[in-house]
Amino acid sequence: MDDRIIYLDNAASTPMRPEAVEAMMPYLAEVYANPSGSHRFARRARRAIDEARDEVAEVIGVHPNEVVFTGCGTESDNTAITGAVKRTGGVSVCSAAEHHAVLHVVESHDGTVVPVDRFARIDLDALADVLDAHRDEGRTVGIVSVMAVNNEVGTITDIAAVSAVVRRHAPDALLHTDAVQAPSWVDLRTISPHVDLVSLSAHKFGGPKGVGILVERGGPRVDPLIIGGGQERERRSGTHNVGGIVAAATALRLTDTERTAENERLTILRDRLVDGLVGRLDDVVETIPRDEQAKAAGSAHVCVGGVESESLLFLLDEAGVCASAASACASGAMEPSHVLAAMGVDRAVALGALRLTLGHSTTEADVDSGSEAIVNAVTRLRSHSGVGAAS
Ligand code: PLP
Repeated sequence: MDDRIIYLDNAASTPMRPEAVEAMMPYLAEVYANPSGSHRFARRARRAIDEARDEVAEVIGVHPNEVVFTGCGTESDNTAITGAVKRTGGVSVCSAAEHHAVLHVVESHDGTVVPVDRFARIDLDALADVLDAHRDEGRTVGIVSVMAVNNEVGTITDIAAVSAVVRRHAPDALLHTDAVQAPSWVDLRTISPHVDLVSLSAHKFGGPKGVGILVERGGPRVDPLIIGGGQERERRSGTHNVGGIVAAATALRLTDTERTAENERLTILRDRLVDGLVGRLDDVVETIPRDEQAKAAGSAHVCVGGVESESLLFLLDEAGVCASAASACASGAMEPSHVLAAMGVDRAVALGALRLTLGHSTTEADVDSGSEAIVNAVTRLRSHSGVGAAS
């Protein structure tokens, strides 16, 4: 790999923790049996899954029987929503700032999308009104889905407050949280008691790609999405990814153990990064001001005036900096992210969005080199377009 890489894209994917890689290896090369088999070799693989399930359950604060291993976060989200709609025949509801793995599924079921405020938090009054309106018009609400931590801007949502509204206004509805971005920043034990379903994805916390987790509290709550051999007690068929599951549990355990220290360390680095940009460049704003709203310690989202994210990302890539913007090219024109649009960020401002996300492997040197490269790239772009450069 290019040794000039400065990786500031941990919300997209984290590097695997070495301990997780090590834990995974024996299940690729040595214990390769299908864990659904009946021989002793299969039982060894099955035991590894059972132990991983116990460990994952402990970190989330649920019973092992409530943990279902899936293929990714997207699958967990799809299973929760489509499975709830199928089982209950009810309407699905979500916030406008959800990841597309939730938003597009709710839209595909003609569900209801609830507005968010300028910090990307679901509007609780609007949520209550939506739930009341469905009840008054004779519709059952099958599931409400609200994310725990936003993947673009890092907002941490108070899931207990969301739960209070849902339990009051739609007591029969299931409450799901997409907690895919949460494990590094929030103790999952503070979230799980308030919800029925939780989605996680191992590659966001130092585990491998291709392993997701769906927690179904209190036993099966939704219809399965993938049907076949009946694995995961009929809740998710398909031969288990044994090594991936073992590695996911190892990574989740380490994330849990290190969370408090990492939150402190990365808050300092994140603030240093943002302050470095805001202090050296005109017209750069921290999208979610850190003093006004709780957000993930690793999340540094800024909007850079006078530049377009795509051009900035291109120059940063040339300089070895991995970052992202979350804008999408629709019908030939750049469209700002749906999250920023839902927050009411002006379109012109949103087109200069830059998402820099820190994680367990991020160092002070990464932040300083990244900051330097961003200042240089923005200055270069602005000098071409005639906009004022560094301050
Ligand atoms: N939900 C959120 C909040 C995410 O950030 C992501 C990935 O970016 C997903 C769901 C999808 O997870 P996966 O990549 O495991 O499918």
